[in-house]
Amino acid sequence: MISFKSALELGNKYQQLALSDPLTKLANRRNALTILQHEKSRVSRNNEPLSILLCDLDHFKMVNDKYGHNCGDMVLTELAQVFTQSVRQQDCVARWGGEEFLFILPQTSAEQAFVIAEKVRINVQHHCVYCHEQEISLTISIGISQLTAEQNIDDFINIADKSLYQAKTNGRNQVYPQQTTSIDL
Ligand code: GH3
Ligand code: MG
Ligand code: MG
Repeated sequence: MISFKSALELGNKYQQLALSDPLTKLANRRNALTILQHEKSRVSRNNEPLSILLCDLDHFKMVNDKYGHNCGDMVLTELAQVFTQSVRQQDCVARWGGEEFLFILPQTSAEQAFVIAEKVRINVQHHCVYCHEQEISLTISIGISQLTAEQNIDDFINIADKSLYQAKTNGRNQVYPQQTTSIDL
């Protein structure tokens, strides 16, 4: 018979599996949506700003085509680490879909989110992934959205998605909307 302790450990393990993406170990989409709901209710209580970044790897299909799917997976795993190392303790980075990542930034205005997004973008640009003795570097595009009082989660994410699309059409390797700010985090 399975002991209580083992059952507890197994339960934790399955909970972990249900909440995280197996490749990158980041929060998965379902987990991100739960966190967003939680943060949204905190915003209504405390009147604090909440922003998200939707980030997509630029021309990632080319990376797979040129270096193979395994190297593509390695890029995703390493960039996940670059992402988590680039943000603050209270921020959440989730794998939103294939090569799309969602950053949840509590107590953060759009201006502050821009500073974080630029930091992430530059860190990725300077990061080099080594795979099969080849050096792979790539860039990312990022869309920003700050939650407004009348928005639901879907609208909030849609704005980030539209911003991301703008960053792509404006030439990639950039953040949208751009902010002129002197904030230093
Ligand atoms: P864009 O700059 O417009 O975003 O171009 P893109 O090539 O990044 O976009 P596209 O949507 O054409 O291709 C996304 C690629 O991401 C194709 C898909 O095979 C790859 N991808 C998605 N998930 C994974 C994964 O888990 N592993 C690997 N290796 N590739 C993945
Ligand atoms: Mg994409
Ligand atoms: Mg892409």
